[in-house]
Amino acid sequence: MSRSAHPAGPRHADVLPEGHYTAPADDLNALDPKVWAHTVGRDADGVVTVGGIAVTQLAEEYGTPAYILDEADFRDRARAWRTAFGTDADVFYAGKAFLSRAVVRWLDEEGLNLDVCSGGELATALSAGMPAERIAFHGNNKSPEEIERAVRAGVGRIVLDSFQEIVRVAHTAESLGKRQRVQIRVTVGVEAHTHEFIATAHEDQKFGIPLADGQAAEAVRRALQLDGLDVIGIHSHIGSQIFDMSGFEVAAHRVVGLLKDVRDEHGVELAEIDLGGGLGIAYTSDDDPREPHEIAKALSEIVTRECEGARLRTPRISVEPGRAIVGPTAFTLYEVGTVKPLEGLRTYVSVDGGMSDNIRTALYDAEYSVALASRTSDAEPMLVRVVGKHCESGDIVVKDAFLPGDLAPGDLIAVPATGAYCRSMASNYNHAMRPPVVAVRDGAARVIVRRETEEDLLRLDVG
Ligand SMILES: *Cc1c(COP(=O)(O)O)cnc(C)c1O
Repeated sequence: MSRSAHPAGPRHADVLPEGHYTAPADDLNALDPKVWAHTVGRDADGVVTVGGIAVTQLAEEYGTPAYILDEADFRDRARAWRTAFGTDADVFYAGKAFLSRAVVRWLDEEGLNLDVCSGGELATALSAGMPAERIAFHGNNKSPEEIERAVRAGVGRIVLDSFQEIVRVAHTAESLGKRQRVQIRVTVGVEAHTHEFIATAHEDQKFGIPLADGQAAEAVRRALQLDGLDVIGIHSHIGSQIFDMSGFEVAAHRVVGLLKDVRDEHGVELAEIDLGGGLGIAYTSDDDPREPHEIAKALSEIVTRECEGARLRTPRISVEPGRAIVGPTAFTLYEVGTVKPLEGLRTYVSVDGGMSDNIRTALYDAEYSVALASRTSDAEPMLVRVVGKHCESGDIVVKDAFLPGDLAPGDLIAVPATGAYCRSMASNYNHAMRPPVVAVRDGAARVIVRRETEEDLLRLDVG
């Protein structure tokens, strides 16, 4: 589908304003399976259902706004990644996308490993029973307490991000009489975001140790000398919402180049290479993500080819999808509060949440789609901007989309693909109470993260 500033045909307003939006779908009631969780559909009354439950019932029971998560879909996607990569590779779910104890248990049951990047995420993972050896600990500035906790717990790997950290982790492990498995995170000078990637990106960012000027080789040199460290491999993470595999190709080429240098200098063949996460999902019907099996095949071919070229044993690959697993599994359910048409511009639809439950639109100019969920409508499409209730004009949830022209206060609308980086980035701005996450499966719903209450807010405010 093509994007255009002026989609064909006058709709609602005679002249449509400039904008980055897709022409309205032929049927606004249709739910594109690309952007909705697997079990989402409409019942005989036209109400959106998920896991066999109508959103009107969910709204009544759990209130709005709420994140509604399709557990069967989550498990399907986790399993698809696990199966695609098989037993010769490891899949680490990136917990920062969305983490709760229920999620940890699903991952454990589906055979996935888990990435954490803070003491809080580690505590959540451990408290839900994820075996420590299946946890990887990330981050560019882990505190001494976090390092000690991770080493004591026996996490499977710590991903080292700086020269200081190499020494810190080594000392901590030695003082505890342990040898910690580590990977060294390098920046390969590749930057990938959505449809483009840059092979010669500046390594001007906070993560990783630059490959280009020999710093990464020096990091490996130092780490190999420290008794507290067992250097198992190299880590690279090149971006987010990536559709084009060529960024991974360049990254793998450069990482394998380092493995070769390490072999030539130290006589050591590092056993693992982690290519990070960042695989894209469909936020709108314009996005065409690849299936896990296609990604697995492409990555494995790339690494095998590069290693053959360098006459290296092919290392074990790991990947770290976050968004690609949880993103499409949830939608946010809102109630419409006000509908404000601005003649010749667009109609502002205010919902009962906003940037406190979805900061991505304000933060990254992220695109979302939206659907009327509590009923169907045959009214003409109108161009809308879905906005929140916060005191900030940038408080936008969906920048440009079409909803039926008879949309009214009290209608429920749903924004799909909000499973990743929405609840996990939610805030209490304006003392908003963060929405619950309701998991739905086989006709049953349960709260896995409850809604915050005024009591929760006041408990932190000790006067
Ligand atoms: C954020 C992150 C991921 C996950 O990214 P997604 O876009 O959610 O797949 C994986 N690995 C690292 C190191 C990250 O920082």
